[in-house]
Parts: sequence; C-alpha cells; structure tokens
Amino acid sequence: MKLSSRAFDLYQAFEQPGCPVCRLLEESVHAFIEGLMYEYVNEPSTHFAVRDARGFCTTHAWHILEQINASALGIALLYEGLVRNLLEDMGQMKPDGGRRQVMQAAQALAPKGPCLICTHRDTAEAHLLRNLLEYITDNDFAARFGASAGLCLEHLRQALAVNAPLPAKNRLLTLQQAIWQQLQRDLAEFVRKSDYQFADEELGREADSPRRAIQSFAGAKGLR
Ligand SMILES: [Zn+2]
Ligand SMILES: [Zn+2]
Repeated sequence: MKLSSRAFDLYQAFEQPGCPVCRLLEESVHAFIEGLMYEYVNEPSTHFAVRDARGFCTTHAWHILEQINASALGIALLYEGLVRNLLEDMGQMKPDGGRRQVMQAAQALAPKGPCLICTHRDTAEAHLLRNLLEYITDNDFAARFGASAGLCLEHLRQALAVNAPLPAKNRLLTLQQAIWQQLQRDLAEFVRKSDYQFADEELGREADSPRRAIQSFAGAKGLR
C-alpha cells in the first residue's frame, strides 16, 4: 500500500521509543517555532496573534527561550508590541481608580486568542491521527504499529474522537491493548526483580518499563 507522506513519517516513527505521534509533533512544533522566530517574526499576523494571546503559553514560551538559537531579538520584537498593547488596553492606572479600573485591567489582561504554537500543534496532531487511522487497517502498517511503543493515553483518546470508520478505531484499540498488556507484564516483572531475593537475576526487556510507562501515560515532555 502506498503511504501518504505523513503516514510514512509515522511508519518510521514506529521504530523509535515513545508515542509516535508525540515524536512527530515534537519535530513539527520545533520546526514551526523556528520558522516563526526567523521568518515570520516581522509579519503583522504573527504580532497580532501573539498580542491577542498575551504571549505564548508557558510551555511554548520557555521552548522558544531555551531551545531556539538566537531567539532573543525575535522575543524582544514580539513582546515589545505585546507589552505596549497591553499597557494601552489597561489605560493609566491610578491608586484611587476604583472598581471600574480593576475591571478594565482584568479585561485587558485576559487573552483574546489561543497560543499560536498550541494552535499549530493541535492542527498537526489532528492531521497525524487522521493519517494513522486511515492506514491502520493495512496489515503491514498495523504490524509495525503493533511492534511500536503505541500511542500515549492522550493521543489514543484523541484518535477515538476523530471522524474515522469504526473498523479502523477497533483495529487501533486491539493493537494498543496488546501493547499495554505487554507493558503491564514488564512492569510486574520489574517490580518482582526489584525484590532482594531476585537481585541476582539480570534485567531483560522490563529494564526500561518505568520510563515506557511514563511516556505512554504522560506523552512526550514539553508538548503541552
Ligand atoms: Zn502521544
Ligand atoms: Zn502553546
């Protein structure tokens, strides 16, 4: 079966640790932020979106500051506009401004739109899940998924909400359940071998099961 380009990306991500959708999203979000900070930082639409959202969300703001090279000027350009607009919306604060002033300030502080990067993530996420469900009824694709770390809890829940045929969702659930059954056995084995009586037994595939459990139930770090 010929795969779409996103399905092919997923197919390759099945071989990597952790939820394949999380992994591709991490890449997509990082590339989007780089584009935003290097190419689109002077676009009025970027400025309006950042201003309306009152900045980026906590996760993505720190991503920009800590993981994007030379982001300082871009941040300064975007946030100068944001702070200027916020100050205008607040108006001149006075110690005796009364209730009206507090209400005006509260309104000015509230975001009027979502974080630009969260919006990109949500779009990319939906696209990946639609592709996953479109190809999961293909035997080869399904086998590769079955041998992967599976979806994280959040992405499995989102997948069930996608508008896709029932056989695709049931195939996905069947494969995911087998992955979690194996994870549960690995965790139990990890616990058993942690007992001092069995301390001389070598660790096998269960060695990294605590990490896999966190990846599977929390998703990738720094995505939301
Ligand atoms: Zn995930
Ligand atoms: Zn965000």
